Amino acid sequence: MTSLKSWPCAALPHAELSARTTMRVGGAAEWLLEPSTPEELRQAVIAAREEGYTPRILGGGANLIVDDGVLPGVVITTDRIKRLFRPEPEGPSTVRDATEMAPRVAPAPREEGLRFVAWAGVSMPKLVNAAAELGWSGVEGLAGVPGNVGGGIAMNAGGRWGEMWGVVERVLVVDERGEFQELERSACTPRYRNGGLGSRIVVSALLKFDLDDPRVVKERGRDFLLEKNRVQPVTAWSAGCAVTAGMTAGGAPALIARLWAPPAVTAVAPGRPTGTVDCP
Ligand SMILES: Cc1cc2nc3c(=O)[nH]c(=O)nc-3n(C[C@H](O)[C@H](O)[C@H](O)COP(=O)(O)OP(=O)(O)OC[C@H]3O[C@@H](n4cnc5c(N)ncnc54)[C@H](O)[C@@H]3O)c2cc1C
Repeated sequence: MTSLKSWPCAALPHAELSARTTMRVGGAAEWLLEPSTPEELRQAVIAAREEGYTPRILGGGANLIVDDGVLPGVVITTDRIKRLFRPEPEGPSTVRDATEMAPRVAPAPREEGLRFVAWAGVSMPKLVNAAAELGWSGVEGLAGVPGNVGGGIAMNAGGRWGEMWGVVERVLVVDERGEFQELERSACTPRYRNGGLGSRIVVSALLKFDLDDPRVVKERGRDFLLEKNRVQPVTAWSAGCAVTAGMTAGGAPALIARLWAPPAVTAVAPGRPTGTVDCP
């Protein structure tokens, strides 16, 4: 299949994955698909399924350990689907419509709307910084959490100062049939480090914030980050708190055995978030 297939988006055969994860280990994907819009992502899912593969989703790679060798089939990366914008106040009423529209060109007052539309591949630091610049409170507790918005929603990333689903108002997913589904927050059941979306793929989300003083939001984020830096190897290539916490509770091997076995450490599992221990 590798040499013959044409895909509905950019695609790389035998793409090395290690550099796309924070652990920096593992092998290659037989195919790495790189959609750059929500619709391309949907088409990529459909095309993979037509080839008989369940696509694996790769976000920022901050919570994955990739197997050695070649992963057969398709990995879809959300890295190129990375628009973050403020929806028009009078604009589309659905996330799906909003994903298709042009971002606002004229600057809007920071008091207006208090919402972002974030596509799945927006990096968490970009989201945290953009909200802080406007003085919008809600994600500063996620300062220092690596990865992308899609992975953050799938995993319900967070810690003691807040979690991703705290700002989710609506989420757009692609389901197993390759169809868009828009889910209200009230219809979802996120839990501890698990967005509760099952095998659905996060495409974009409408995120709602509270108005605050930009200086105060930035200071809070800075304080959280300092505390996180103090207890975690934030700048090292690692799996974050999963490893440091493991060191204090019988070592990383024991932790890995508890969290991932059986089967032993496999990777980029579609819509199946791995477990993590509590993160500061
Ligand atoms: C230094 C460091 C510090 C960390 N600190 C924290 C912390 O404080 N709190 C915390 O919660 N986590 C923390 N983590 C873990 C990690 O940042 C989060 O789990 C993050 O949400 C992973 O997002 P990602 O985009 O990198 O997902 P990935 O690692 O790429 O994927 C993780 C899982 O989500 C799935 N997935 C990815 N994108 C999507 C999508 N669009 N739709 C559906 N499924 C998808 C994947 O298939 C996989 O199963 C830390 C990690 C590191 C390396």
